[in-house]
Formats: sequence, structure tokens, C-alpha cells
Amino acid sequence: MGENREWNVKKIMVCLKRVVDYNVRIRLRPDGSGVVTDGVKMSVNPFDEIALEEALRIREGGSPVEILVVSIGPADCQQQLRTGLAMGADRALLIESDIQVEPLIAAKAILKVIEREQPDLVLLGKQAIDDDCNQTGQMLAALWQRPQATFASKLEIVDGRATVTREVDAGLEVINVDLPAVVTTDLRLNEPRYVKLPDIMKAKKKPLQTESLASLGIDLEPRIRVLKYEEPAPRQKGVMVADVDALVAALRDKGIFN
Ligand code: AMP
Repeated sequence: MGENREWNVKKIMVCLKRVVDYNVRIRLRPDGSGVVTDGVKMSVNPFDEIALEEALRIREGGSPVEILVVSIGPADCQQQLRTGLAMGADRALLIESDIQVEPLIAAKAILKVIEREQPDLVLLGKQAIDDDCNQTGQMLAALWQRPQATFASKLEIVDGRATVTREVDAGLEVINVDLPAVVTTDLRLNEPRYVKLPDIMKAKKKPLQTESLASLGIDLEPRIRVLKYEEPAPRQKGVMVADVDALVAALRDKGIFN
């Protein structure tokens, strides 16, 4: 790491979204107005755990870094912020609201926090597993007018710049971005640590601040209108074929090719 690293990163902000746990089988409300969340296990979005793990590793790499975790959503998001504190974040901020927080609103709210906190690096997941939008990081970087490096599978910080290996369709791409910047995390960046009981106890004493989304003074008008939630069509049963010839014959039978 470069000798300027201390200069580079003194504060990292990590965004943690509360989502239905990835092990839960999603059920829809009978009227199609949304997903059932009552009595359902909620967790930190898995890509956001990876983002926090990366922040912790940067700090463990030697420089004194303050790590702030931020969530926008209902009061219950405190649980996920406490998980972030137990993993090792220093403090947490809940931007509280019961409205549907779509990516543009999340990005605007995060920007307000950035303006106040002045982090050197902002880490988000590449996507939230509830809406799969994959938009917030990109919108945030555009609004902040700072560089973005999305789908990071490796992150190195040297001399005021981040070198980010990105997972793209054609393989891996390496880019350099000036800090401060927005980096969004992909699955292979790291494997997040498990939280230990003593850390959960310690996390209870760490600062968790709350403020209302309405108090930030941003435009909360929704830009997305959800018409209806529907189950995907049931998949047809597959068939096992013995070899490639049988596969080709089966595809011909189905008229997929001649
Ligand atoms: P999305 O654009 O919805 O797929 O979300 C991408 C990333 O933005 C997530 O992995 C989070 O890091 C962050 N994010 C989105 N919404 C929120 C939220 N309500 N609270 C905190 N972080 C969020």
C-alpha cells in the first residue's frame, strides 16, 4: 500500500439495506400488492455485508479508518445496523421512513449524509436482492459527481486512488478511480466474517443515531409505480437425455431448431 494511504481513506461509509433473508421462500400477498414480510426473517443485503467486510479489511490493513454504516428504511432497520456494528463498524445512522425507498430516493438520502460526513470512500452492494435494481450506486455517483466503480471483485487503495477489478460480461476489467468514489461490491470480493456473541454485546454500546428521511429535505415523490406483483410462471418439468444426439433430437422435436 502507498505511503499516502492514511491520507486516502480516513472514513468509509457503507450502505446496509434490510431485505428478506436470502434463505426465505418469498411469498406474495394474496392481492398482489407486495411480498409478505410479517414474521419473515430479515437480514442485511448479502452484497452489503461484503461491502462492510471490505471496509473492515481496509481498516485492518493498518490505517485508522472510521467506518459508518447507514440504512434508510423503517425503525426495524436498527437490527441490521446493529449487525453491522457487531461486525466491526464504529457507528450507525438510520434514516428512518416507512415509505417505499426506491433507488433514486436512497441515492439522494445517502448523498445528504455524504455532504455532512465527507467520507473518502462509499461502499454499496451491486444490488439489493429484494428489488434487484442495481441502480443506487450508479445514481449516487452521478448525483455526487464523483467516480464510480461497480461490480468490484478486488479493491486496492494506493496514493489517493482505488484500483478496482470489475466483473463484467467479457471477464475482468481493471480501472483506477480517484477518491472519493463510489464502489459497489460483487460476490467474489470477499467472504464476510461471522459475528461472534461478544461482538454483539459490544455493539449494543456503539452509537446508533436516527433521523427522519423527511428531515433531509429531498424530493420523496416516487418515480416508480408498481402495478402488481406476480409469481413467475411455474417451470415445466425437465427431461434427462442420454447424450448430445438425444439432446439435439429433443430440441428438434420441440421445434427449437431444424
Ligand atoms: P439497488 O440499487 O436497490 O439494487 O441497491 C444497491 C445497493 O444500494 C444496496 O446493495 C445497498 O448497498 C444500497 N441501498 C439501496 N437501498 C438502500 C437502503 N434503503 N438503505 C441502505 N442502503 C441501500
